[in-house]
Amino acid sequence: MSHPRTAVIGAGISGLTTAKMLSDYGIPYTCYEMSDGVGGNWAFGTKGGHSGAYRSLHIDTSKHQLSFKDYPMPEEYPDFPHHSLIRQYLEGYADAFDLKRNIEFETAVDEADPLPGGGWRLTTRDGTARTFDALVVANGHHWDPRLPEFAGHFAGDVLHSHSYVDPFAPLDLHGKRILVVGLGNSAADIAVELSSRSLRNTVTLSTRSSAWIVPKYIAGVPADKYYRTSPHLPFSWQRRMARLGPLITTGRPERYGLPTPDHHFFEAHPTQSSDLPLRLGSGDILPKPDVSSVDGTTVTFADGSSAEFDVLLCATGYNITFPFFAPDVVAAPDNRIRLYKRIFAPGTDDLLFVGLAQATPTLFPFVEAQARLVAAYLGGHYRPPEPDEMERVIDADHRKYLGHMNDRPRHTQQVDYFLYEHDLRTRELRDGRARVDASGPVTLGAAQGGGVGA
Ligand SMILES: Cc1cc2nc3c(=O)[nH]c(=O)nc-3n(C[C@H](O)[C@H](O)[C@H](O)COP(=O)(O)OP(=O)(O)OC[C@H]3O[C@@H](n4cnc5c(N)ncnc54)[C@H](O)[C@@H]3O)c2cc1C
Repeated sequence: MSHPRTAVIGAGISGLTTAKMLSDYGIPYTCYEMSDGVGGNWAFGTKGGHSGAYRSLHIDTSKHQLSFKDYPMPEEYPDFPHHSLIRQYLEGYADAFDLKRNIEFETAVDEADPLPGGGWRLTTRDGTARTFDALVVANGHHWDPRLPEFAGHFAGDVLHSHSYVDPFAPLDLHGKRILVVGLGNSAADIAVELSSRSLRNTVTLSTRSSAWIVPKYIAGVPADKYYRTSPHLPFSWQRRMARLGPLITTGRPERYGLPTPDHHFFEAHPTQSSDLPLRLGSGDILPKPDVSSVDGTTVTFADGSSAEFDVLLCATGYNITFPFFAPDVVAAPDNRIRLYKRIFAPGTDDLLFVGLAQATPTLFPFVEAQARLVAAYLGGHYRPPEPDEMERVIDADHRKYLGHMNDRPRHTQQVDYFLYEHDLRTRELRDGRARVDASGPVTLGAAQGGGVGA
């Protein structure tokens, strides 16, 4: 079987692991990367990239959970490496597997159009068009800022966490009245950083749903080393048992002034921060409920209180966006997109996605597992089920991974890495191999049709 000529959009962790696995299977590919380096989100300051990292960012996942299976993290790395070390690690990965020779840097894909007989035409920013038999989309989903819609108009500065660099860039944030909106990891990090007394800011943190806060260490061990779901026990039992976690570590969020969460632990992302409870408990950050309205520089909260602010810093998440697809080809309204194993678009054999998930506890080995399946597919060793079976499994996976989560755009792609990886390794690859033996591999280039969306 001749291998399909494959295009990969993006050279972050998703694109790099895909490139590595395609190389392993001898599948010819070109990887397009719009910035001048590898690493995506972890390539802070790269020319032409869209990294959402800020200067002080340390990864929240410990290096023990983060390592790719094919390329361990260096022993000498600290438990929670700085983003610059993650970038070095990804550079090392690209060099170790000689991936850069197939990456076209500073080459943004502006259009990806399905061809009538199957395959894709990709047009890059310089106007060049090339055709491919298959397309792997690995463009990331942490770069298109989602801003809240408040009643009224705010007259001060508004900044999304994606643009935040440090207390002096892009805005001078000292001596300011700052409202941080959101209570995810970025909100916690940035509120803690800006509330340092040396900056003379007053920092208020507003949250709609509140959050369970988990520490980075428990008894001197990185907290996520305790996280390990088992495929042999019902997931719902394990989630119930996990509810004890925050109660015996950080305690209920109300203890340090946050509103009562509108969900149980693990029904929304917990926020990892050892510093936030201390800052709240020290009076350096003032907790508030949801914003109910805005008028000039006055913000009124759901509890009826109001205060004046100079800056709204919104750490309110991201939209899933594919600017290179026409909306009738692929769209993700409200961050919803139906994908089998979060990879395959039912009915469109030559289009694959990698990294379009929010995997607990980390995305790194998760995308590696996805990339392995993608390469097995394009190499003719794996065949997915028929579209109607894919749709049935998408619904079942949705109930399994999302049925208990808050129904918000932030939680549309939740997956448990351990359960997902176990399923791919022990069942999906085997069943897909059996389907190849029975029906042969999927031949790419045949007429495709339809669109992909919610
Ligand atoms: C502040 C922050 C903290 C995070 N912390 C963690 C953490 O602790 N643990 C964890 O597991 N995850 C964390 N994440 C999630 C993080 O996004 C992922 O770990 C990872 O970066 C996603 O990799 P990716 O390759 O899918 O996307 P990206 O890293 O976004 O890479 C996508 C690449 O595609 C390129 N690209 C996009 N569009 C085009 C185009 N049209 N043409 C050519 N190239 C294109 C981009 O330039 C980029 O290089 C964090 C995210 C943020 C924003």
